[in-house]
Amino acid sequence: MLASVPTANSRFHLALPFAALCLATACLTPSAVSQAATPAARPHVAQPVRPSNAQLANPAIEARVNRLLGQMTLEEKLGQLVQYNDTGNAAAILTSSEGQPAQTGANNQGIAALNPETGNHVNVNKLIAEGRLGSMLNTTGAERTDTFQHLAVDGSRLHIPLLFGADVIHGYRTIYPVPLAMAASFDPEMAAALSHMSAEESVTAGIRWVYSPMVDISRDPRWGRSVEGAGEDPYLGAAMARACVHGYQGDDLAKPGSVLVSVKHFAAYGATEAGREYNTTDISPITLRQVYLPPYHAAVEAGAATIMSAFNSLNGVPASANPFLLTDILRREWGFNGFVVSDYNAVRELINHGVALDPAAATRKALTAGVDIDMMSHLYDTQLPDLIRSGQVPMSVVDEAVRRVLRVKFAAGLFEHPYAEGVEVKAAVAANRPLVRKAAEESLVLLQNNKLAGGAPLLPLSPAFKRVALIGPLADAPKEMVGSWSGSPVMGDIISLRQALEERSRQVGGTLLYAKGTEINGTSQAGFPDAIAAANTADVVILALGEAGDMSGEAGSRAYLNLPGNQQQLLEAVAATGKPVVLLVFSGRPLVLDWAAQHLPAILEAWFPGTEAGHAIVNVLDGDVSPSGKLPMSFPRAVGQEPIYYNQLPTGRPPTGIDLSKPPVGEDRFFSRYIDVPNSPLYPFGFGLSYSSFSYRDVKVSKTAIPLAEALANRSTPLIEATATVTNTGSRAATEVVQCYVRNLGASIEQPVRSLKGFARVTLAPGESKQVSFPLGFSELSFFNLDTIPAIEPTHYTVWIGGSSLADQEAAFEVVSTKR
Ligand code: BGC
Repeated sequence: MLASVPTANSRFHLALPFAALCLATACLTPSAVSQAATPAARPHVAQPVRPSNAQLANPAIEARVNRLLGQMTLEEKLGQLVQYNDTGNAAAILTSSEGQPAQTGANNQGIAALNPETGNHVNVNKLIAEGRLGSMLNTTGAERTDTFQHLAVDGSRLHIPLLFGADVIHGYRTIYPVPLAMAASFDPEMAAALSHMSAEESVTAGIRWVYSPMVDISRDPRWGRSVEGAGEDPYLGAAMARACVHGYQGDDLAKPGSVLVSVKHFAAYGATEAGREYNTTDISPITLRQVYLPPYHAAVEAGAATIMSAFNSLNGVPASANPFLLTDILRREWGFNGFVVSDYNAVRELINHGVALDPAAATRKALTAGVDIDMMSHLYDTQLPDLIRSGQVPMSVVDEAVRRVLRVKFAAGLFEHPYAEGVEVKAAVAANRPLVRKAAEESLVLLQNNKLAGGAPLLPLSPAFKRVALIGPLADAPKEMVGSWSGSPVMGDIISLRQALEERSRQVGGTLLYAKGTEINGTSQAGFPDAIAAANTADVVILALGEAGDMSGEAGSRAYLNLPGNQQQLLEAVAATGKPVVLLVFSGRPLVLDWAAQHLPAILEAWFPGTEAGHAIVNVLDGDVSPSGKLPMSFPRAVGQEPIYYNQLPTGRPPTGIDLSKPPVGEDRFFSRYIDVPNSPLYPFGFGLSYSSFSYRDVKVSKTAIPLAEALANRSTPLIEATATVTNTGSRAATEVVQCYVRNLGASIEQPVRSLKGFARVTLAPGESKQVSFPLGFSELSFFNLDTIPAIEPTHYTVWIGGSSLADQEAAFEVVSTKR
């Protein structure tokens, strides 16, 4: 996972979303194929849609593409449509129907660079030299990529360069917080700056294409890949998606230092049932469009050059063979003009999904649905010649897929600059540390900070605390600080919490007592006595608990959301010393922290903060920086509440005015509720404390009524403005994430109880006030109606502005029918 040298089949695990939807959905061409795939009603045809990326619609590039295409043999064309890693170990996960062992042939670890013909007989060097390989995944490092590139550029007949793609998700060498943590910063500008930084490091290692951003909405933290996305909210998800695309790609795909993105995993992978990895998704057409699609759409609108099709099926049609998603929505509605790459082996997995009886059918279905590049299945190159010969796949479909790939290669300037750029970055870059540290500071979420007996909250730590006990399996765990998709960090570059606290102790003349206590997922209590002894002699305890990096991410689904192993017992034993305890939670998802919330004064969610983890955390613990992160996902009280998310639809029996913390009595039972736990999450979406405090007043809207005709006609400028005055009522400067939520009542279909429609990071000096405005236009006020068309109806709107999804100061307005 963390290897900088790829191992065999390791794959180098090393604000305006709705506007977009609305513009695009005016431009549909329903297809018979997709009608069959998804029975949802579809909007009607209007004018042709604008290409999503202008650079890919350049006539000069088109001429070059056509010239080149005209010279290509069938084998060379198919080469552009397949992707292997440098082990050549394609299709490692063989389908059960083939009755073969999961892995065959030599273990190619270590010999990959020699370009072997491996167990699955994909001789990468041979393919490249013959012009039969277009792209490689997770093959990184200047020497390695340049070696293969020379073979392609100098050795192949048409000299078409390879495209090197890699899972650079939150940094290449200098690692920033995991994407879920970045979402907690509510800081898209920061996300853009980090993506740009990451691109600049990546290109030095020959990487010109990153499999990022992952923009799958996740409402269920059992799904391990929640860590890779921006959480549960489509508006926040879209903002982060857009920012990452801009940051990675810049304003010119060919500019040195920019990389192509692959927005993944299209689509709705995050809705996987029961949070189980690779599982089915079954989503209504409206929820698909209203909740799951906005971040992908925002990324496409931002010019994303490529998209990755997902593993999951959607309403019975696997995403990697789904013309409704890949052609109707992506290309016809949104005008996407980049290329689509399948997820790893997803084409072959169509057989396991039961929609293809054999590799040929899988190939035909994937390609004709809209998957241009087959990642690792080893099917497009082996199956397509026969499929074309027999007329089952038209040559025009192949040609168009090749065109899409070539367009991107030309637009990226790959033909002019095929090799790794500049001096290779081989370790964390000192100049990038301040940025990733700031990002980590912004991503920390203060969940609890109760007052101690003396009257002050436990955090920031008082300078009087000279003896600090640092306890827990995450306290001195550099490897875990970078999460599950960590790029290619050098372990020695990562600042652990222990290292940073030792530095602090030296500076302030204090004493740091360290005890690991237990393993992350262990059962032994052998370390407990030392931990308790350390706590007993300390003024304050910092308890670093949580998950290992690889307990989330791909294939990291969990059925329990508690602290793993016996960490809860350690927590209780340490708390029993009576010392003030700060719980630091490292996790790739919301955990159940109910006990801690009831028994500990302070809890700080740290996620996986990256290279500068220790420094960032200590800066916040010490109070040099006031926490400003807000939760991008709800933290449940119990796993049985999942999926729990703030923007739920209303029910006919809301338990208003009932004390849900007590079991029901009599008629109290017949409401939408649990009998054993409140409905509310422990910590809601948008929630996070500061060392200061903020008050809100004068929540207003600029008008009380909008004529329906105007609301429908004006799709480009705000229809109304919501404002509030926010004041820093504390005694220190601090940043607040001001959030604007909207509810629409009286529409033809149910609308969420509230939805985020704007946010802003506002920094205020003590006592300072600012007025914050949120423009609300068609995109924010419309919803998808039963025909899945964005609509505004004559309805009532409530707007809340505040510091979390529980914001309680409101204003109201109406959209009024012009007939009235
Ligand atoms: C993951 C993708 C990743 C790809 C290439 C797949 O298993 O789902 O997110 O980009 O592998 O490593």
